[in-house]
Amino acid sequence: MRLILVGPPGAGKGTQAVHLAAHYGIPHISTGDIFRHNMKNETELGMLAKSYVDRGELVPDTVTNEMVKDRLSDSDAKKGFLLDGFPRNVAQAELLRKILEKANTPLDAVLELALDDAEIIARLSGRRTCRNCGATFHMIYEKPATEGICDTCKSDLYQRPDDSEEVVKRRLEVYAEQTKPIVSFYQAEGILLTIPAVGDITEITQRAIAALTAAVSR
Ligand code: AMP
Repeated sequence: MRLILVGPPGAGKGTQAVHLAAHYGIPHISTGDIFRHNMKNETELGMLAKSYVDRGELVPDTVTNEMVKDRLSDSDAKKGFLLDGFPRNVAQAELLRKILEKANTPLDAVLELALDDAEIIARLSGRRTCRNCGATFHMIYEKPATEGICDTCKSDLYQRPDDSEEVVKRRLEVYAEQTKPIVSFYQAEGILLTIPAVGDITEITQRAIAALTAAVSR
């Protein structure tokens, strides 16, 4: 399964990606997670990305594309992959198409998680992320067993600086202007599936698997 998850910030891409990657036995490749990991470790890539990520802007394609090319060439991605947060604009989608065409490994599907703006803002303002492993929780919808502590690795939870209200608004604008056009791009290729990203987490995962099963068996 070679799959892309697309949707506005807060639609639950990260959460669904974890479940879907486990279901299909494929690596979950999140460009946002790779940037955050590098920022935390203060690598050259992390320092370069930080000013963009903190403002809710896209990291330049030259940087992001190289990073994704490298990651897709790792051996675990040979059996398939789930890309979460990439592509984020049409130029990235075109680059990905070239890489996959060259390897003769076309995408199976692009799954769009659809959600309206008011719901997005409510979700993001309550989101908390683990400083260590990147797992996400929600103060109302997905509480950790102990407040402020990650269920998985017991590290501290924090609010991502780019989940503040002001930066969320900018991320939504960037999504509408730059990322939304890739939805039409994949629709034209006939591989777009759109599901509503409302309801509880398991329900959305089941909806996603049902849509993917129906599409790939066509
Ligand atoms: P995410 O965790 O997917 O919401 O990504 C967090 C931030 O990382 C974004 O707001 C961007 O600053 C950066 N980022 C993630 N993926 C990309 C990408 N494909 N292209 C450019 N910037 C990205």
